[in-house]
Amino acid sequence: MIGADAGVQCSSAGCGAAATWRVNWRNPRIHSADRVKVWLACDAHRDTLADYLGTRGFPVLVSPFGEPVDAVPDARA
Ligand SMILES: [Zn+2]
Repeated sequence: MIGADAGVQCSSAGCGAAATWRVNWRNPRIHSADRVKVWLACDAHRDTLADYLGTRGFPVLVSPFGEPVDAVPDARA
């Protein structure tokens, strides 16, 4: 078991580290503006996951694990 928050792990494949960040995103083609998908990330994978989504053209908003967001604004101007 890892700490008290077992089950709250980084979403990166094969990573079992405790998540400390929320990578909030959505796919504008299938998700409405008020829809928020969340990947959980450890310190090491926060940027990796955010960059992966960003390169696919998805709006991404990274927030601390304890701070959920209500919406992910359109990025890419
Ligand atoms: Zn990780």
